[in-house]
Amino acid sequence: MCGIIGYYSDNSTNAGNIIIEGLKKMEYRGYDSWGFAIKTGKEIVVKKNVGSISEVKEGSNTKCKQAIGHTRWATHGKVTKQNAHPHSSCNNNICVVHNGIIENYHDLKKNLEEKNYVFKSQTDTEVIPLLIDYYYKNSKNFTESIKKASEDLKGSYAFIAMCSDFDGLVGIKKGAPLLIGHGKGEYFITSDVVAFVEYTKDVTYLDDNEMVIIG
Ligand code: GLU
Repeated sequence: MCGIIGYYSDNSTNAGNIIIEGLKKMEYRGYDSWGFAIKTGKEIVVKKNVGSISEVKEGSNTKCKQAIGHTRWATHGKVTKQNAHPHSSCNNNICVVHNGIIENYHDLKKNLEEKNYVFKSQTDTEVIPLLIDYYYKNSKNFTESIKKASEDLKGSYAFIAMCSDFDGLVGIKKGAPLLIGHGKGEYFITSDVVAFVEYTKDVTYLDDNEMVIIG
């Protein structure tokens, strides 16, 4: 179990700090490491570390429209900075936070390594951004690539992805919670309503195999 959050605003704001505040409210879901990614223009900047999110003073004062974040409870791979989420594709243009377990990650990892993908962590999660990247290279369609990648995944998961070439966030779930908070010109995708309840009470709960696209 861990906590994931995505934030998207119609206007530039301190998305990094909103993410950190949301993660602190979900800390009960995972507390061995934390991380977040903010996107400004086409650039995705990732910050992560081991330790408790409660010790993190602030996310980022960079104004931006979108960010994703994670508090980890390690299931695959030790508690290290490298294994903390978000996990990124090799060229850093696709970035993912994940809650759950990818049961067939060994097979997927082997297949991707045969296609010359290089893994940087010991997590099951890292197959997700690399698999999305594999499909994205052919189709150049981010949402379609996520759909295709999720069809290859066995296990339970909820994940949120962003891409340097896509203005928005995409979330998808199977067997793990994922819900959407609809605010005024701002949207949240999270594991738990506590992360955004002070911003909005307008909530949509996703069903298994449903995907949300915000942006
Ligand atoms: N399986 C992932 C990991 O170990 C996510 C763990 C979780 O959901 O807490 O990094």
